Amino acid sequence: MDSQQATKESFASNAAVLAKFRDLDQRGKIMAEYIWIDAEGNTRSKSRTLEEKPEGYKPEDLPIWNFDGSSTGQAPGDNSDVYLKPVAVYPDPFRPPHNILVLAECWDADDTPNKYNHRHECVKLMELHAKHEPWFGLEQEYTLLDLNDRPYGWPQNGYPAPQGPYYCGVGAGKVVMRDIVEAHYRACLYAGVKISGTNAEVMPAQWEFQVGPCTGIEMGDQLWLARFLLDRVAEEFAVKVSLDPKPIPGDWNGAGLHSNFSTVEMRKEGGMKHIEAAIKKLEGRHKEHIAVYGEGNEKRLTGRHETGAIDTFTYGVANRGASIRIPRECAAKGYGYFEDRRPASNADPYLITGIIMETCFGAVDD
Ligand code: ADP
Ligand code: MN
Ligand code: MN
Ligand code: MN
Ligand code: MN
Repeated sequence: MDSQQATKESFASNAAVLAKFRDLDQRGKIMAEYIWIDAEGNTRSKSRTLEEKPEGYKPEDLPIWNFDGSSTGQAPGDNSDVYLKPVAVYPDPFRPPHNILVLAECWDADDTPNKYNHRHECVKLMELHAKHEPWFGLEQEYTLLDLNDRPYGWPQNGYPAPQGPYYCGVGAGKVVMRDIVEAHYRACLYAGVKISGTNAEVMPAQWEFQVGPCTGIEMGDQLWLARFLLDRVAEEFAVKVSLDPKPIPGDWNGAGLHSNFSTVEMRKEGGMKHIEAAIKKLEGRHKEHIAVYGEGNEKRLTGRHETGAIDTFTYGVANRGASIRIPRECAAKGYGYFEDRRPASNADPYLITGIIMETCFGAVDD
């Protein structure tokens, strides 16, 4: 799209016109929006009509579908069918009250997981180590951009005043597009996403939402759904969502995906020794974790702007400049959870939660 022509008016949806059609009777049919993850870590989706409402939202009751993988970089043109296997179903906040969102895994024609299907391995790790009852809570930071890829509300030439007033900011000039944050929050609650909160971030036009605690594979599923909902909500405002870990170079905070983690053992009295044992294991596989913690993360993990440096593993109580932070309250109680601060905003939650399980409790083939 030509950015010269890209005005808000030309791309935003027209709520008043759409409202005329929204209440038309669907004659008992259900609209199902199938959602998948593409080669670049974006969500894609397409719709199909179901004859009736599936009972109890069970994914196994929904049809397997397919798409043209050569158009998404997920398959070659001469063997382009990629299959969509439903794995989770949610009420659709954009088409209430009976229509559904269907999160799907991508599978190739030879019945092996597609190269970009990171969920499949993650499920195996979660099942193998289920007795530890892993809980995750992910903090998704993101930046809102205008249609010319400038952080929303920033001057076209030049910069806003330095960081300071924006984090958890209240008032004009400190935050932008709170409507998107509010609408996304509601959409998540409607869909059943365990969104646990939101806040404005340190860099202007940057926000965060948290999802969790979620058990096992539910974490990746819910975070991907929440990302889809955010892109869809922002689309209605003709605003772009960027998961770039360092959208603006220099003295501006990057964007992360802090990953909080605990097991049943860590959450009990005396849990600190299990937390410390897990941190020791993470230390031994720092490089392997960084490899799957997001692209461009080296621009963010500089040791400044509340990050640890990318090439050293550090941990500490209440330390926001470390790789791993043990929250003050947990240290005081002697049990609870810890925060892995290394993952970048654009990392895949299936890869993050999967490698944490693998490092702490062993690989699937061990
Ligand atoms: P921060 O102080 O780092 O900004 P947030 O409040 O933004 O922390 O996010 C904390 C996240 O940790 C939330 O998603 C929350 O659900 C999650 N969380 C809380 N307790 C646990 C736990 N015991 N195990 C795993 N995650 C947890
Ligand atoms: Mn076609
Ligand atoms: Mn946070
Ligand atoms: Mn944050
Ligand atoms: Mn955090």
